[in-house]
Amino acid sequence: LTFLGIESSCDDTAAAIVRSDATILASVVAGQVALHESFGGVVPEIAARAHVEKLDLCVEEALAIAGLTLADLDGVAVTAGPGLIGGVMAGVMLAKGIAAGTGLPLVGVNHLAGHALTPRLTDGIGFPYLMLLVSGGHCQFLHVTGPEQFQRLGGTIDDAPGEAFDKVAKLLGLPQPGGPAVQAAARNGNAGRFDLPRPLLDRPGCDLSFSGLKTAVLRVRDGLVAAQGGLHEQDRNDLCAGFQAAVADVLAEKTRRALAASPVPVLAVAGGVAANSTIREALQRVADQAGAAFVAPPLALCTDNAAMIAWAGIEAFRMGRRDDMTLAGRPRWPLDQSAAPMLGAGK
Ligand code: ATP
Ligand code: FE
Repeated sequence: LTFLGIESSCDDTAAAIVRSDATILASVVAGQVALHESFGGVVPEIAARAHVEKLDLCVEEALAIAGLTLADLDGVAVTAGPGLIGGVMAGVMLAKGIAAGTGLPLVGVNHLAGHALTPRLTDGIGFPYLMLLVSGGHCQFLHVTGPEQFQRLGGTIDDAPGEAFDKVAKLLGLPQPGGPAVQAAARNGNAGRFDLPRPLLDRPGCDLSFSGLKTAVLRVRDGLVAAQGGLHEQDRNDLCAGFQAAVADVLAEKTRRALAASPVPVLAVAGGVAANSTIREALQRVADQAGAAFVAPPLALCTDNAAMIAWAGIEAFRMGRRDDMTLAGRPRWPLDQSAAPMLGAGK
């Protein structure tokens, strides 16, 4: 099987061609960072407009790179949610147009299922496995037992960890995206200098919280600024190291609990925060201790892309899933309801 995948749920316009033997023939991602930069965040209307303008070009480019035409495909998979609804609708409409024009089967994919199934595309892992999704917008533990079978074991009750990295970078005057900047500063820092909290470790279960940690960094910063009139480079490095260590500790302990609650042979991660080497090392240790393998897909497939959507579409298609012209975009779509029928407008 060869599928076209389309992704437009946030600020990346993406198209990809993927084969059922896990070969990625093309994966095109057009970001929108420059469009939103001056607003300090993604503006939904601007994002939707840019998706409408760029989607066909991305699809054409992906087909050209793969050396294929629409006639060579076996199906079209598209992110049908969750995400910014204008962008999701732009993708769904294009996918419906292609399906109607060619007669190809249409499969609506949950964006989070795309992330969660990526280690099967990149590393060919089998079910069941534990997926820790840690990105700029999401943070959850998923017990994955099938292409459309996800059980949520816990997740953040406030910010996502990537969001916390970005906010901490902003507090300390470091550039965006904050994750790589904080990691670089932390390399020269002393993680033990400041006493930062480890939120929710005193409570049972796998839920996480990151907003208190960010506030703790803010307090330390304000204290230093009040005492010495500003931040020295070493203060910044030490705060970054301390913050990063706290995030790694919390993620590691909650992952240990998730593996203990639902033992599986593989721990997999996805999302931009999985790029962090301190966090990766901490998770690797947890996996080793639990006797599980640790799988982290390459970064380009950990962040938003359409190859994961094409792949999730192939997996769902193999299970018999087909959508029709009633396929509707959903701003919200909890992953543990992935197999629920998707009929009706926006329901
Ligand atoms: P989502 O996919 O949930 O909609 P998103 O598109 O913002 O959200 P990703 O593209 O997966 O998320 O990841 C981006 C996030 O990852 C940013 O918050 C960024 O700061 C963070 N990040 C990237 N590299 C690192 C790193 N080395 N350490 C920590 N965080 C990182
Ligand atoms: Fe994503």
